[in-house]
Amino acid sequence: MLQNIKDYELDELKSKMTEIGEKTFRAEQIFKWIYSENVDTIDEMTNISIELRNKLKDNFELKRFKIIEKQKSKDGTIKYLFDLLDGNAIETVLMEYKYGKTICVSSQVGCKMGCKFCASTGISYIRNLSSGEILEQILKVEKDENTKISNIVFMGIGEPLDNYDNVIKAVKIINDPKGLNIGARHISISTCGLVPKIYKLAEENLQCTLSVSLHSTNNEKRSELMPVNRTYNIQELIKACKYYINKTKRRISFEYALVKGENDSIENSKELAKLLKGMICHVNLIPVNEIKKDGYKKSTNENIMKFRDDLNSRGIVATIRRELGSDIDAACGQLRRKNLK
Ligand code: SAH
Repeated sequence: MLQNIKDYELDELKSKMTEIGEKTFRAEQIFKWIYSENVDTIDEMTNISIELRNKLKDNFELKRFKIIEKQKSKDGTIKYLFDLLDGNAIETVLMEYKYGKTICVSSQVGCKMGCKFCASTGISYIRNLSSGEILEQILKVEKDENTKISNIVFMGIGEPLDNYDNVIKAVKIINDPKGLNIGARHISISTCGLVPKIYKLAEENLQCTLSVSLHSTNNEKRSELMPVNRTYNIQELIKACKYYINKTKRRISFEYALVKGENDSIENSKELAKLLKGMICHVNLIPVNEIKKDGYKKSTNENIMKFRDDLNSRGIVATIRRELGSDIDAACGQLRRKNLK
């Protein structure tokens, strides 16, 4: 099978050019065609001779997803179901905010983490996405909508830190001025709490935002909602987060989905404020999206606002995440992997 040309960082592509007996500046030309011109085929790279284009085609493929389905929510959110061309399909979501367009990308086909309230869990894990497949979600959406994306969140299907190398590679290409040229501060990586990978990420010297899905301050409850907590409990997770903040000087965003009667009492907000005290952080409250199978119910709006106000009054900055795209199952925790075979 030919390697997807979008799987290479610029330096790697330069080495590849040397390997096939070509000059390294060709890699820069190719990068421009892919990331600035967003071409569909190698044949569109018209400042490259036909002979060389043929040679490129003998050695690489330019992978372009097919759109199986595109749904538009009444709030403008768009959900894509992409055909990965190997019998699998993933979802990607485009959202519009005042400050620009945000894309929510998937990092894996399925997910191993098993969070009880998340639809991505209902189906088993198949494989990691390659870095090129992560990038292609952005490129394909930009092409299809004829738009420029300004923010990227790794909050689609999968656990990004469980596909660490490919996610970091994609981030580097997103960041590269010769790649997608989107600043790291416009990129968020969300994790359910893979502690060793948080330490590793702290050493990467990237300025992207880390989001941590916390959802509970109580180990027993968190283990019930998120099996990962049985491996890395809340205390170990918070310790890693403190290390990350210290090392990167970046604030962490904690995600907290409010589930009626499970984690949404004022007692819970008090505990949360205590747990996060002194950390440079922000709490993102997510009204839980109800997944048919699980029976978890959304907190009332009144409760959600009380929870936020209580955190704020205790010195923890908290905001409520808007529920974009819930009418087309494009909101948090509603994305699924599909099997086309
Ligand atoms: N695996 C990563 C990326 C998924 S991000 C992670 O766990 O962080 C998606 C965010 O939506 C996470 O914070 C996740 O916990 C949250 N989420 C999952 N299911 C949800 C649901 N039904 N309602 C609201 N948020 C949900």
